[in-house]
Amino acid sequence: MAAPRLRTGERPTICHDVVIVGAGFGGMYMLHRLRGLGLTARVFEQGSGVGGTWYWNRYPGARCDVESMQYSYSFSDELQQQWDWSERYAPQSEILAYANHVADRFDLRRDIQFDTRVDSAVFDEAARRWTVTTSDGASATAQFIVLATGCLSNAKMPEIDGLGDFKGQIHHTGHWPHREVDFSGLRVGVIGTGSSAIQSIPIIAEQARRLTVFQRTANFSVPARNAKLTEDERQWFRDNYPEIRRKAREEMRNGIFTEPPEKGAFDDSDGARRQNYEARWSRGGLTFMSAYNNLALDKAANDTAADFIRGKIADIVRDPDVAKRLQPDSHPVGSKRICVDTDYYATFNRDNVELVDLRDTPIARITADGIRAGDIDYPLDAIVFATGFDAMTGSVAKIEIRGREGRTLNGKWAEGPRTYLGLMSEGFPNLFLITGPGSPSVLSNMIVSIEQHVEWIADCLAHMRDEGLDCIEASRQSEDDWVAHVNEVAYGTLYPQANSWYMGANVPGKPRVFMPYIGGVGVYRQICNDVAAKGYQGFVMSAAPRSNPIAVHSA
Ligand code: FAD
Ligand code: NAP
Repeated sequence: MAAPRLRTGERPTICHDVVIVGAGFGGMYMLHRLRGLGLTARVFEQGSGVGGTWYWNRYPGARCDVESMQYSYSFSDELQQQWDWSERYAPQSEILAYANHVADRFDLRRDIQFDTRVDSAVFDEAARRWTVTTSDGASATAQFIVLATGCLSNAKMPEIDGLGDFKGQIHHTGHWPHREVDFSGLRVGVIGTGSSAIQSIPIIAEQARRLTVFQRTANFSVPARNAKLTEDERQWFRDNYPEIRRKAREEMRNGIFTEPPEKGAFDDSDGARRQNYEARWSRGGLTFMSAYNNLALDKAANDTAADFIRGKIADIVRDPDVAKRLQPDSHPVGSKRICVDTDYYATFNRDNVELVDLRDTPIARITADGIRAGDIDYPLDAIVFATGFDAMTGSVAKIEIRGREGRTLNGKWAEGPRTYLGLMSEGFPNLFLITGPGSPSVLSNMIVSIEQHVEWIADCLAHMRDEGLDCIEASRQSEDDWVAHVNEVAYGTLYPQANSWYMGANVPGKPRVFMPYIGGVGVYRQICNDVAAKGYQGFVMSAAPRSNPIAVHSA
């Protein structure tokens, strides 16, 4: 049963130790860990259920691109031994069922208030507490806030003239209806060719009478090779989980267990390199980018992988002009999130599918009857916006957050997000971010990164309680140093060469800053552990004059 709602005018609940915003995988695990410490926590979630990403993104074909046996919590061995993933890449419905199972199994719902958006969070310097106000008009106070608001949770509709004029159905992949959307017999337009589009296009094409894909930037995609998992495959993971999880956390840059690349692309002959790419293409999945250790660093090395994929596109797509347009030529492979597909390129061989290259004919406007690109009208019954998210900072920015001296986080981040370790931002004491900008976050298997952040925050709060401390804040210097380091590492790679959402480039007016930390989850974890071991170096911790240490409220 979900937590009771506070009604307008009702006396606010003032006695939470922690308010958590968001009930995706981050918020759910945070709640579980805080309970383990004996702290009181309340989660506010604007959706009507748990699961975050997997609650909202119900578009056809939605599934994970990190293998299910790895895209899952590791904190409970019973859970990982008992849960049966059905496919190599679980579909959205199964991941959502898993999230619900976790909520039930750990009895999380009694502290989660659904259908409630956090609108503002204001720090009271004298009381050293946060007050949050919520969309139901209520307010609550807490000593700490954890923003588990998600990096890809703020679906972005593009600003295109005439959006309101369209008479047919409009859907955004990131905000999909909770009923089945049937495109049978319809003329459908999909705008975008990112991961969401690339997953949904082959399925929509099978249903729709006609599908028109509006592509602004061609993207690299590798085959998923999705398949049912056999019991033997599941058992192999279960038997080896301790080592698989350890390696994913400590040794892999992206938190995905695989054989790490030991050589660069030019350490192999042309033939051997091609064989390596072929083997990875046949195996399928994101680990294609682990073929060599310099693909993200050296443009010439990267070109060998990019050329290989372009060659595959030319092999698959029968119309050479369409194949050419589908071949990415504007960014290094991997500098935008590489996509993982089932029959994406082959879909363009279907008679009912058309590709519109917006580089030749940009969208002029949406009309009552469809989309006008250049001076051509494409009549449509439905438009799917697979146009992505205001990523990493978008959901945080929607909350009015006021820290010391009334300063707003949006004001502070006007030129781009600034954090220490992606965990805290100076001037905003006792406010933690999960997978925030400046942490590996979206460049990783995100459950690995979520677990690491949650556990670090929980350990930090336990330390503060043990020491009788009630306030923690990133120091200005440590934050400046970290931001400089994040930039330095990013600009040593090819990533900033792409107009990606990692750079904020997909949102007009958003500052161009490379937001995630590219140093790898293993290196990053070690840095965070060292910081903690050195007494939370770079953070300023204090006790109130009349001490108000945490855990005064029993759970
Ligand atoms: P979310 O799951 O985004 O949850 C955040 C929650 O916070 C949301 O439910 C939101 O409603 C709520 N919220 C936000 N603001 C407020 C507010 N002001 N008040 C109340 N509630 C609020 N990552 C991988 O590692 N592997 C994958 O295969 C993968 N596939 C993905 C597929 C899709 C379609 C998308 C969009 C993302 C994918 N990701 C993947 C990234 C995915 O977002 C993370 O893996 C993970 O689910 C994030 O969990 P989270 O709890 O941090 O955030
Ligand atoms: P995305 O990668 O940002 O892709 C959005 C697409 O829409 C891009 O092709 C973009 O073109 C296009 N677009 C945006 N505005 C447009 C406009 N005004 N006109 C024309 N085209 C426009 O978003 P996403 O596909 O939703 O994926 C976001 C992230 O979520 C992924 O990178 C991944 O991390 C995660 N995800 C994962 C999976 C998975 O496989 N498990 C599935 C979905 C999402 P430009 O490139 O030119 O900007």
